[in-house]
Amino acid sequence: MRITAGFLTSLSLALAACEPAPPSADLVLRNGDVRTMEEAAAPATAFAVRDGRILFVGDDARAEGWIGPDTQVVDAGGHTVLPGLIDSHIHAAEGALALGGCTLRNQQLTVQQAAEPIRGCIAADTSSAWIVVNEVNPAGFKADRHDLDAIESRRPLFLWGADGHTAWVNSRALTVAGITRDTPDPEDGRIERDAKGEATGFLIDGATGLALSVMEQPSPEKRIEALRRVLPLLHDVGITSYFEANTDEATVNAYSKLASLDELSARVTMAFESTGENTPGEFSRLETLRKQLPGGPLFRADFIKLFADGVMEHPTQTAALLAPYNDAQGKPGESRGKLYLPPAQLQAFIAEAGKRGFNIHVHAIGDAAVRETLDAFAQARGAGSTQLFSIAHLQLVEPSDLPRFKQLDVGASVQLLWAQPDNYSVDALTPWLGDERLSRQYPGHSLVAAGATVAGGSDWDVSSFNPFEAMATAMSRRNPEQPERAPLNADEALTLDEILAAYTRGAARLIGREREIGSLTAGKFADFIVLDRRLTTSITADQIRITRPTRVFLGGHEVTTQPGPGSGR
Ligand SMILES: [Zn+2]
Repeated sequence: MRITAGFLTSLSLALAACEPAPPSADLVLRNGDVRTMEEAAAPATAFAVRDGRILFVGDDARAEGWIGPDTQVVDAGGHTVLPGLIDSHIHAAEGALALGGCTLRNQQLTVQQAAEPIRGCIAADTSSAWIVVNEVNPAGFKADRHDLDAIESRRPLFLWGADGHTAWVNSRALTVAGITRDTPDPEDGRIERDAKGEATGFLIDGATGLALSVMEQPSPEKRIEALRRVLPLLHDVGITSYFEANTDEATVNAYSKLASLDELSARVTMAFESTGENTPGEFSRLETLRKQLPGGPLFRADFIKLFADGVMEHPTQTAALLAPYNDAQGKPGESRGKLYLPPAQLQAFIAEAGKRGFNIHVHAIGDAAVRETLDAFAQARGAGSTQLFSIAHLQLVEPSDLPRFKQLDVGASVQLLWAQPDNYSVDALTPWLGDERLSRQYPGHSLVAAGATVAGGSDWDVSSFNPFEAMATAMSRRNPEQPERAPLNADEALTLDEILAAYTRGAARLIGREREIGSLTAGKFADFIVLDRRLTTSITADQIRITRPTRVFLGGHEVTTQPGPGSGR
């Protein structure tokens, strides 16, 4: 065929008239109120996805060009679309094991009131060697082994405080755990004793481990089954990624197995629990754990979790404070709580962890524990460390320490569902904390204002993993079950945008995955959720509390289990 100049001209004109069509996308979402959660991003209504990643974000008209014959089209119906939510501190695997078990649901009960439901659990479970009762509200709860012996004397009985730091056991449990008057307190905990020096049955932090370590352990199959149960529950409230805040070998094995079966439907970042012993043995154990999980799109496994202190509520009071707890009359007392790791040990451990390529996540509740941790991070930064550092909980932060989060690039994992007036946040701290300190509890706004990377987290199964409940509380600082109570430190409230950022880009940054997740932008994973409504500027905290996703996607694949109306499934 002879190609004429005229033919070439018409060909190029034809090509110019219709721009070269882009290759089509696997999925196009359109008609959405797309909150990309990128700072200062232009408003968007649509995006396109291929091979699990976002290709393009923009408007419906331009998204049209990505739709081919095989493209899945998701019409968001004008509703808000967010990046998949990220929980920056959760105990998903451990919490999953307790699902369906015996629980007191964190209700405020006396031991006499708790007796009946506990007897019900004992009657229903005739096979377990230990009777474990979960979610005991620890604020002001008083029980000794004699109280528990009256409920059960034959089998060991273990009541787990909902804060994960406290336990009450009967005499049989003390015997089986080998706890006698001669057993010393572990360094990171306390065995409560009576005037004669006998263990009362109340165990705090590391002391709970004396009982936990002799209980029958769930089988590997049971652990995998538990993960299979919990993942859909997390997805149903919009969570697609999370930070497993305290894992051990059994948990790592369960995740590794689930991933090898191709059944892991969330991105999981692991923090391995450590007592902070700076020894070659401890680090080689941690390195072995790290090797067990593959890198890649689902896992990141190079964090170590340490405990700087315990909890603040009376009667436990193991959180470390700069000034002493008050006595029962509200006058300064003797105790400042307990730093679980001496500062020199914490600093040396962090330095060694840095040499071995580990990042650090620290539980710190009291202002002395927060300061000790920031001091240790400062020392490491001074020596040139580029490790990822973060602190969880932050119930009390001395104001002069607030700017250090930004200066030292330390992430703040906050559990703002706790920032409401309740027995644990007011009654169990009054008068022991004093008004001035009570008025600064659970900072939100002051951390944001100080430029900290603020990340949302649940600490489930200490409290609900539903991020929308935490978002509502972060905004209102109110207790929905006790609406007559004044908000808890209303000046620490966050705006909707601030708390959305905490559950997306803030949390992604805290776990060092901000290049992969946390916003809807070209190149990142297509993890996103479609809400059951549009989040208008006038939306109230009460409306946020009942907001739910109708569709949840991980890497462009739907993981929703109970699609709502209009979900098209
Ligand atoms: Zn925790």
